[in-house]
Amino acid sequence: MDVHDGRAGRLVPIYLLHFSRPFAHARHYLGWSATLESLARRVAHHQAGTSGARLPGKARAAGITFELARVWPEADKKDERKMKRRGHARMCPICRAEIAKRAKAGEVYPRSYVSNKRSSTS
Ligand SMILES: [Zn+2]
Repeated sequence: MDVHDGRAGRLVPIYLLHFSRPFAHARHYLGWSATLESLARRVAHHQAGTSGARLPGKARAAGITFELARVWPEADKKDERKMKRRGHARMCPICRAEIAKRAKAGEVYPRSYVSNKRSSTS
């Protein structure tokens, strides 16, 4: 357990930033804040490039903007780890909407749709 960040066992807000375009392999940044009020300030700092966080700072320097895609008001370290394992895009409403839109246009199939159809198409 990480004790050095001072939130062991505490519930804190976790947020997901969606990048306007991918930076290296990253399209999202998952961060946390002490309170919902400080979360808003933190996101504003990310957008201004003054948060001090490495990935958003570099992305910002490359001209990428962020959208606050989702907030979990009460999460702990275990939730954060679970989210990182699941993959950010699956939790991101912006990405999910994009995938749904492209699937509708026949460009791509969401993974779940492909696996459901596999038996009948191949
Ligand atoms: Zn996204």
